[in-house]
Amino acid sequence: MIPAEAIADVKARHDLAGFIESCGIALKRHGEAYLGLCPFHEDRRPSLSISPAKQSWCCLGACSAGGKVLGGDVVEFARRYWGVGFREALQRLGGATSMAPPVPRRAPLRVVDGRKSVRPPVAADLLGQVATVYHQLRRQATVGST
Ligand code: ZN
Repeated sequence: MIPAEAIADVKARHDLAGFIESCGIALKRHGEAYLGLCPFHEDRRPSLSISPAKQSWCCLGACSAGGKVLGGDVVEFARRYWGVGFREALQRLGGATSMAPPVPRRAPLRVVDGRKSVRPPVAADLLGQVATVYHQLRRQATVGST
């Protein structure tokens, strides 16, 4: 079970349009939205629509046929783009925060019974710390720019 906070946290840390551009998809401003070529079907005219305000995307082209609209949030996009499961996408997004300060990737090895083994689980704790620092940085950046 993935806690809702973890999902909200990952979403808060990734700007959807920025993430999609980092996947190599060029986006053009179109009013309130961004448009780009949909990577999920053979797209010749941009039908991938991104709403920065809602942090959501949808395909206005072939993916959304028959009354169904293909779209979602940054996790849903990553999941489809990478062809992985929800949990895997979430984990990868958690590890791909370019604005997060460098953090130690590994906890020191503990010596158990004279053998090197067992890394203590740090991922969840680390994620929380990174999120806190990131939010502080972002708040500072917002204050500075006004
Ligand atoms: Zn599409």
